[in-house]
Amino acid sequence: MDVIVANDRAELVEARRVLGVGAGATLALVPTMGALHEGHRSLMRLARERADHVAVSIFVNPLQFGPGEDFSRYPRTFDADLEICAAEGAGVVFAPSAEDMYLPDRQVGVSAGEMGTIAEGAFRPGHFDGMLTVVLKLFNLVRPDVAVFGRKDAQQLALIRRMVTDLDLPIDIVGAPTVREPDGLALSSRNRYLSAQDRVAALALSRALFAGAERSTPAEIRRAARAVLDAEPAVDVDYLILADPATFAEVGDGHTGEAILAVAARVGTTRLIDNVVLTLG
Ligand code: AMP
Repeated sequence: MDVIVANDRAELVEARRVLGVGAGATLALVPTMGALHEGHRSLMRLARERADHVAVSIFVNPLQFGPGEDFSRYPRTFDADLEICAAEGAGVVFAPSAEDMYLPDRQVGVSAGEMGTIAEGAFRPGHFDGMLTVVLKLFNLVRPDVAVFGRKDAQQLALIRRMVTDLDLPIDIVGAPTVREPDGLALSSRNRYLSAQDRVAALALSRALFAGAERSTPAEIRRAARAVLDAEPAVDVDYLILADPATFAEVGDGHTGEAILAVAARVGTTRLIDNVVLTLG
């Protein structure tokens, strides 16, 4: 069956009916901002394993961009995205307009709490509030049984899990591994902003994370990763942290168990994030 395109909430209700969702069939949601790549495709494939039908949302959410960020120049490639969704067997693509999503006088949104103000949140004030607000709206509109998110955005995933717990949302959250280029660069819609020179410099992010992953104590891990980043002058680091995967607080020296080594940096005019999951002790 062809993929159904739902451009507003009424068309989404109709798509759910056509697919039989709510009448026995289950639905998995993959929220995206479009400019789809192999990372998004891997999420769609995981979603297909988890439910009878897959919904992909494509929405560049104005609420999660700060002033001076790349909202207006964010890549919009709807026709190519639709082909990818069809090729991956999605049942419905939900691509609402900002006007359909937000009333001009909207008042209420989700707060990411203190966890939304650390790490990535310290550099992008309000970003996680805007992200959680749109994800909750998408959950309420699409009403999926399962939602799939990439571990590439590790703090986002941790906050979505918190929202599901704290607000008692009846949705299973699935985290998908980060898809990388053969040379290590994590796939991102923003990679298309990189010049050839930036692209080479950007490899320092994954190289730093992999260097950290070879060490065993928090101090050694941080030092090894920092040394790689310091050696690449074209990479302007916002933060490098070794954090608890659930809270994103920095782990102490005696930490054992899982930790996330995460980096954010600017390369030319492009801001990139990446992380790896480590097991300590
Ligand atoms: P975005 O369109 O960038 O907002 O991302 C939509 C979803 O795709 C999020 O859950 C991301 O974490 C996920 N994603 C983005 N890049 C990758 C990647 N390289 N590997 C796996 N998932 C990814």
